[in-house]
Amino acid sequence: MKCKDSERYITLFINDKLTGTRLKKFIEHIEVCPTCFNEMETNYLLKEALQRLESDGSYDLHGDLMRKLKNTKKCVEGHEMITMVRRVMLLSAGMALLFELVFVYAFYL
Ligand SMILES: [Zn+2]
Repeated sequence: MKCKDSERYITLFINDKLTGTRLKKFIEHIEVCPTCFNEMETNYLLKEALQRLESDGSYDLHGDLMRKLKNTKKCVEGHEMITMVRRVMLLSAGMALLFELVFVYAFYL
C-alpha cells in the first residue's frame, strides 16, 4: 500500500469502517510507515479528544490507540487463521472423497 492510499483509509480505520484486505494492508503499512502512523495518530487523538471532552471519559488516548491497533491485528490474524483452517478442512474433505471414490472403484469394479 502506498502512503496516498493509506491516507485515504485513516478516517475509515478510525471510524471502524475499514475491513478485509484493505484493513490488513492498511495495518501492515501503518506499522512500517512512521509518516502515516503519525497522521493516523493525530487524527485519532483529535477525534477522541473531542469526543471525550464532551463525555468526560478517560485520557489515555495513546494507550487506547495502541490497544485498538493490537485488537484489530488480532482480528485480522484470526480471520486469516479461520480461512486457513477452512482450506485445510476443504482439502481433507476432498481427499476423503477421492479416497472413497478410489476405494469404491477398486472394490466394486
Ligand atoms: Zn505511509
